[in-house]
Amino acid sequence: MELVLATHNKGKAREFSQILSQFLPDIIVLSLDDLGIPGPLKENGNTLEENAVEKALWVYLQTGKPSLSDDSGLEVDALGGAPGVYSARFAGPEATAAENNNKLQQYMLGVANRRARFRTVLCLAEASGHRTWDGVLEGEIATAQRGSKGFGYDPLFIPHGTTLTFAELEEEEKNRISHRRMALSKMAKHLVEEI
Ligand code: IMP
Repeated sequence: MELVLATHNKGKAREFSQILSQFLPDIIVLSLDDLGIPGPLKENGNTLEENAVEKALWVYLQTGKPSLSDDSGLEVDALGGAPGVYSARFAGPEATAAENNNKLQQYMLGVANRRARFRTVLCLAEASGHRTWDGVLEGEIATAQRGSKGFGYDPLFIPHGTTLTFAELEEEEKNRISHRRMALSKMAKHLVEEI
């Protein structure tokens, strides 16, 4: 099976290929760069699902091959689920991860309810239509930023079951429990059952 990943992010493409090949050893994963498809993918939706569907359908129309997209975000209970779908742009349209983390840390100063979760929605678009799967990882927002690994909100997110932030965990450990991993393994199990 050939699958096109709707991303220009090489790290994400590597993570996806590694996880998918554990379930589907014969899978051939192609990136947008492998196919010479340029430009950023549009994310105009108001939900993770809308964005994932928009990206997968666009890539399917360009390539005619089964296309897999994802959209992820951090939902903080005390902030009514924000930043959510706006996670990348929490501190402004061109915000860096450091700016987003600083803003989140500021908003959470003195807040007792620190419950949060990362959510990923995947969309697979192919000739028969499109389907979505989600993956959710519960955790807490740390009171201070800790660790230097990972990306995005990793220095402030402590997954349940550990006292370390994502940015303090080894990459393999994070990828073993991550929201993306959960969504991908759900999808892969469905695909295996269909083969
Ligand atoms: P994307 O949909 O994977 O591009 O994720 C959107 C935004 O959510 C990223 O820019 C990050 O700010 C945040 N995010 C998603 N996944 C993670 C993660 O695993 N760690 C930290 N931040 C993440």
